[in-house]
Amino acid sequence: MINTSKEWTKRASNVLVDGGSSAARSSLVFHPYPPYIDHGLGSKIFDIEGRGYIDWMMAFGALPLGHAHPSIVDTVRNTIETGSHFAAATTVEVELAELICKLVPAAEKVRFCNTGTEAVMAAVRLARGYTGRKKIIKFEGHYHGWSDAVLVSSNPQKLSSLGHPHSPVGILDSSGIPAGAVENTIVVPWNDIDLLERVMRDKGRDVACVMMEGVMSNIGVIPPKDGYLQEVEKLCKKYDSLFYLDETVTGFRLSPGGCAELFDIKPDIVSFGKALGQGFPLAAICGKADVMDGLSWGKVMHYGTLNACRTLCAVSLAGLNELSKENNAGFKKLKQQGNYISEELKKIFMSQNKHSVICQNVGSIFQIYFTEKNKIENFREYCDCVDSAKYTRFANDLRKQGVYVNPSNSLHSISSTVHSNTDIDETIMAVEKVLSQLN
Ligand code: PMP
Repeated sequence: MINTSKEWTKRASNVLVDGGSSAARSSLVFHPYPPYIDHGLGSKIFDIEGRGYIDWMMAFGALPLGHAHPSIVDTVRNTIETGSHFAAATTVEVELAELICKLVPAAEKVRFCNTGTEAVMAAVRLARGYTGRKKIIKFEGHYHGWSDAVLVSSNPQKLSSLGHPHSPVGILDSSGIPAGAVENTIVVPWNDIDLLERVMRDKGRDVACVMMEGVMSNIGVIPPKDGYLQEVEKLCKKYDSLFYLDETVTGFRLSPGGCAELFDIKPDIVSFGKALGQGFPLAAICGKADVMDGLSWGKVMHYGTLNACRTLCAVSLAGLNELSKENNAGFKKLKQQGNYISEELKKIFMSQNKHSVICQNVGSIFQIYFTEKNKIENFREYCDCVDSAKYTRFANDLRKQGVYVNPSNSLHSISSTVHSNTDIDETIMAVEKVLSQLN
């Protein structure tokens, strides 16, 4: 029986589009083909040929506790034995919402759904419904899932395609999106308050919400400039627009209260995905009670058969309890390991002169950029000054050394509570070796 990743790649290409279930998982970025993963345990994954890898991708951030964490495994087992989902009232959805409201300062009420994309769709509709305004502001390079209204200017482009920063060219990221779907989506460069102020002065009274990732995390990891998020919050208040923070990546990761807590802001709407579900499809929209009540029956509609799925709520509750127990020790560990690997990477990058390479991180999310610059502060700098093709070669070489990062430079790497110092030291040795051989 044939059981190699190469053979499975061939079989997959006959039946799966692009031979995989998204571009970032297939041979499009995993060269020459992706390893087929058989199982995972703790910080490691193992392919069907028996090779082990230190996993720094952690299912795009969905696994803050690593693979097959005992509390998650036990919860799934115990819960589904008495029924996976009822689409009826359950106590666990209440308990989970209570815990979210306790952990997240910005959350006064919660509505569950299943994916980050869905949460964004509902949040945008809620913002429009609540304010009675049509326009939304999104930022260049910020990804908010794949729904029509927001799938614009998310992917890296040539700098020469982006237009003047005062009036960026909104670039549709997909065919099949009617122009009308994005006619009320205003695209603005991020991390520059003057540019946002210009737009708000002109159109602020028509803007339902300003939406953003608080840390830009779909162009690697780009932190907000000091005070930027607070200035955005003030501008939103001035024009009575809602401040909507998409915490799909940062939520239940950068701190118990996500990016909003870390940077001390209070957005009107927040959405969560990834880490909330602990490896399962659970997402949520939260926010100020008055705004969230806009989702109540007869106002702004939002439905879903699998909303607040009983098993998923139980898993999420177990995961969040695990992260927050003993005075948030789990959340602290995420940050500690992310900072540790980032500092070690910076040290070895400084100690060699073959490559111009930097590392940026905010706590547990980090990314490496091959660039002459000493930091990357926005989408345009990434498009113009980062050698992302070199990163892809680097990441694919790193995998041969037993270290698994996603080869797409616009994604990022992620630490979990189960990444040990040994994992980090081994990763650093592999990075040094790969850099010394990389052209
Ligand atoms: N928002 C952000 C900030 C994201 O990073 C993502 C996914 N990478 C999404 C929304 C969409 O989430 P999902 O893939 O669960 O639909």
